Amino acid sequence: MHELSIAMSIVELAAEEAERRGVKVEAVHLKVGALSGVVPGALLSAYELACEDTPLQGSRLVIEEVPIVVYCANCQAERTLDSMQLFCCPVCDTPCGDVRHGKELEVVALEIP
Ligand SMILES: [Zn+2]
Repeated sequence: MHELSIAMSIVELAAEEAERRGVKVEAVHLKVGALSGVVPGALLSAYELACEDTPLQGSRLVIEEVPIVVYCANCQAERTLDSMQLFCCPVCDTPCGDVRHGKELEVVALEIP
């Protein structure tokens, strides 16, 4: 399962950081882009599994979903897309392939009591 291996690497990373600082992690904040291929709901359940028997057991995963943002050369502006099927500027309808956001899959913060 794709999400489980991602969850495990997040837990591993957070556990290492917690150990190095000698603290307990209460929550992990993660940015998940709409194009990252990760299903937030599935990742949440995978995270619980991955936390079992680790120093992160009982911690929370907080997911911040990042929408798809493309750069429209015609408008010379960044545009947020509502759908990932249509890579067209929502304002002028020009096809846009220049993705600026939405591929994120990164830990942004660890919450420590
Ligand atoms: Zn445009």
